[in-house]
Amino acid sequence: MKTCRVARRLSYPALLCTLHAAGATEDEYPSRREAVSRCELGGEHDGPHIAHLYSRGTDPELWAQWGGEDDEIRFVRRLPCEEPSPHTDPVQRRACTLPAEHDGGHAWESGDDEPRPPQGPPPIPTPAATGRL
Ligand SMILES: [Zn+2]
Ligand SMILES: [Zn+2]
Repeated sequence: MKTCRVARRLSYPALLCTLHAAGATEDEYPSRREAVSRCELGGEHDGPHIAHLYSRGTDPELWAQWGGEDDEIRFVRRLPCEEPSPHTDPVQRRACTLPAEHDGGHAWESGDDEPRPPQGPPPIPTPAATGRL
């Protein structure tokens, strides 16, 4: 699965106001050139595009959201999804960085071409102790 990556230029004054309200300091502000967001959802998602702007501690993260009929940019605060990837190796396991209840696949499903684990039913357990009653 590929990331959507639709780009959208944000209104710079609106972006700075929003970051300021979220508690960002001046050295965390992006430059005017960097005020472009790219959608981070998995490709071919329903609903609006969404791109991460800012997070601070355990506060809900700040995201830019756009799309729909008016295509207007909205700044929204969302908690992260945090759904862990299905790796059995804890080193490779990653939490989803997209907002909770996002459209499309989880963040760890896009980007790299890792094989997805089989989604079939779990194997039927064989009786471990056959000679015991
Ligand atoms: Zn998108
Ligand atoms: Zn997710």
